[in-house]
Amino acid sequence: MAAVLSIQNLVKVYPSGTRAIDDVSLDIEHGEFVVLIGLSGSGKSSLLRCINRLVEPTSGHVIFEGADITRARGGELRRIRRRIGMIFQQFNLVRRTSVLSNTLAGRLGYRSALRTIIGRPSREDVAAAFENLGRVGIADKAFARADALSGGQQQRVGIARALMQHPELMLADEPVASLDPATSHSVMKYLEEINKKDGITVNGKVAFDGKPDAIDERRFKEIYGEDAVEVEIGPSRVTDSMSAAEAAALALAQDSTTAAAKLGLPDR
Ligand code: ADP
Ligand code: MG
Repeated sequence: MAAVLSIQNLVKVYPSGTRAIDDVSLDIEHGEFVVLIGLSGSGKSSLLRCINRLVEPTSGHVIFEGADITRARGGELRRIRRRIGMIFQQFNLVRRTSVLSNTLAGRLGYRSALRTIIGRPSREDVAAAFENLGRVGIADKAFARADALSGGQQQRVGIARALMQHPELMLADEPVASLDPATSHSVMKYLEEINKKDGITVNGKVAFDGKPDAIDERRFKEIYGEDAVEVEIGPSRVTDSMSAAEAAALALAQDSTTAAAKLGLPDR
């Protein structure tokens, strides 16, 4: 099966000399929900940002639907970026602007969306914005200012904005780390639903590649240190064909609070 995303021998060395990504290779199939786990500073954000080149990789390749993102320039890079949605931990909304405008900005792609408030949207775009806000349950907040919303509601605007791109791949960098446990749960549910219903591949945090039975206490302690507690994954839902990442995602989707706490996710 062709991977939607193929990361090949990716290396990122920052000018400071920090080797944030050290020869990482990873294939992500269509429709997968992949969760990257790793200590704070282990390179999760760098990896996600190298995928859409918000961070320039030092070497290696990122192949998205057959196109080498690492070689793309100008218009080609913009076209590829439009097919990849991104959701940020801090939401990155234009705070003093309406929820509707923030959502509409997704039409431009997240990069310009961060800086731009668009002028006159088309009727179709407005209809699409309302539909996407409806999907995440906040259509009634369309005319509220973004900064008048709760954290969970703001993140839902972030999701609606990303959906405006009709992305084939959604990158989410600690999308619930700023939220309280109950709110985290509902935001993860929306991401799960997008993944299942739209078939959008969701790449959250981390990669830890292997079968679920490889997630044993020893492996977790290797990743998180001696104080880590292994995540509990309901045995009935975990099959041999399920990857560790899928199992972790499932655990997060089932009970994001517990799973996140047990995984000892960083930056909280
Ligand atoms: P994570 O998201 O897993 O916490 P990051 O990708 O943010 O990890 O960071 C990985 C490493 O790269 C860390 O050592 C961090 O300090 C370093 N790093 C991240 N961004 C930059 C940057 N823009 N310039 C220099 N070093 C960076
Ligand atoms: Mg990070």
